[in-house]
Amino acid sequence: CGIVGYVGSQQAAPILLEGLTRLEHRGYDSAGVAVLGGSGVRVGKRAGRVRDLSEALPKRFSGKLGIGHTRWATHGPATDANAHPHTDVDGRVAVVHNGIIDNASTLRAALTDAGVELASDTDTEVVAHLVARSDADTLEGKVRDALASVEGTYGLAVVHADFPDRMVVARNGSPLIVGVGGGEMYVASDLAALVRHTTTVAHLEDGELATVTATGFTTMRRDLTATHREAAPLDIDP
Ligand code: GLU
Repeated sequence: CGIVGYVGSQQAAPILLEGLTRLEHRGYDSAGVAVLGGSGVRVGKRAGRVRDLSEALPKRFSGKLGIGHTRWATHGPATDANAHPHTDVDGRVAVVHNGIIDNASTLRAALTDAGVELASDTDTEVVAHLVARSDADTLEGKVRDALASVEGTYGLAVVHADFPDRMVVARNGSPLIVGVGGGEMYVASDLAALVRHTTTVAHLEDGELATVTATGFTTMRRDLTATHREAAPLDIDP
């Protein structure tokens, strides 16, 4: 339902939680965040309100790169396990997703056959495993490989412990916006979560991916050829 992301010089968790509260008007049943810190990816998620999540998060949830999600369940009930972010078996990849993966049951069955123990009922979880199992050298390549077998709609944000400077986001039928700050960058599915921080934004188009680091972003097609999308100031009528 709602996606936020942050990378920069500030602690990510409070910024993500604040962004999620700005998406509450869209409705949701669960919320969660993943933060990449010195010890890898840490995830806090649960069914219920963003406020409940904030109160339940350990105080030292430190890291300057992270993603967050408010879920409106389509595949599996509103439980803690089904809340996003979803991770791979080693907990090195975390994924948040808006939309519906149409071939999720096929992909879940293939992963189960390959010996992967699924931790949720969601369509989304397959993406975390597919990213982790790609042998591409880059996070962009791993996301490309994962999306090659995914059919359906998505706004996605992916972080990986082996690539601690970046998140990779993707859009196909579900909005994703990159927001440019000074030495920090934001991602959201809805302008409402961005405008407090920046009004310089780039809207991804369907079929596009972006790499987002603290110093900027680059956009590409699903085959990783560049699209050179640039951010522009929002046209806000006075
Ligand atoms: N299909 C995913 C799920 O059920 C994402 C739902 C959403 O857009 O919040 O977990």
